[in-house]
Amino acid sequence: MKKIKENEMKNIIHTNICILLTIIIVLIFAIFYKYVAYKKDVQTSLETGANVEELYNTISDEKTDNKPENKKEKDIDSSTSDWELLLVNKNHKVPESYSMELEEIETTHKVDKRIAEALNQMLNDARNEGLSPIICSSYRTNAKQKQLYNNKAKEYKRLGYSNDEAEKLASYWVAVPGTGEHETGLAVDIVSESYQILDEKQEETEVQKWLMENSYKYGFTLRYPTDKKEITMINYEPWHYRYVGIENATYMKEHDMCLEEYIDYLKQFEEEEYQELI
Ligand SMILES: [Zn+2]
Repeated sequence: MKKIKENEMKNIIHTNICILLTIIIVLIFAIFYKYVAYKKDVQTSLETGANVEELYNTISDEKTDNKPENKKEKDIDSSTSDWELLLVNKNHKVPESYSMELEEIETTHKVDKRIAEALNQMLNDARNEGLSPIICSSYRTNAKQKQLYNNKAKEYKRLGYSNDEAEKLASYWVAVPGTGEHETGLAVDIVSESYQILDEKQEETEVQKWLMENSYKYGFTLRYPTDKKEITMINYEPWHYRYVGIENATYMKEHDMCLEEYIDYLKQFEEEEYQELI
């Protein structure tokens, strides 16, 4: 009896040891499996990290490579030193050495010879459309400009303004001598035969409507638009056309730029080119 019990006990202990060993083995396997899985994760994350870094480097390289492409490209082949882009305004006087060959146009006017053909073409085409444009002002000598300016200033003085005030007010209507485009021979004032007064109503004439729409095709730009007064520092003049060349006039019209803005636009590329050279 005692022997049987002893055997039973042994069996139970043996069974328990077996179970315990099995559990230990399973646990060892589980821990080993977890460890392997963990190592694998670490490896994967390292590889992913490497890939991210690699990808980042690729993007950075692309960024570096793309930089010149992303830079604003000059999209017109013009230079501020081109004769037709001569800037003349309150801050830019006609150069003292400036000279041009004049050509008579419309029997009583003179313009820079280089713009005569384009101007004639524009006037002829307008006339072929049944319109009657007439040039009322073209090339002016410095002396003539002085006379016009002084007359305008006198008008304001008569109205009671001081000398300084009168001259300042006059400069919004008539360019200070040396700062007017008429002295360059590159500008003309064109009015409608049926309405020859130089005021804002000029824009309502069929001639001005046609010129504002078509002058760029001949290389002319309305030099003092009403919405650019702050930049040109000249009142709205819906009659003053300035030759700048067909390409430039087209670009200015498409991008709604007055001459000052266009010159600034071109200058930024020229400054960059200069910086690259030095
Ligand atoms: Zn004018």
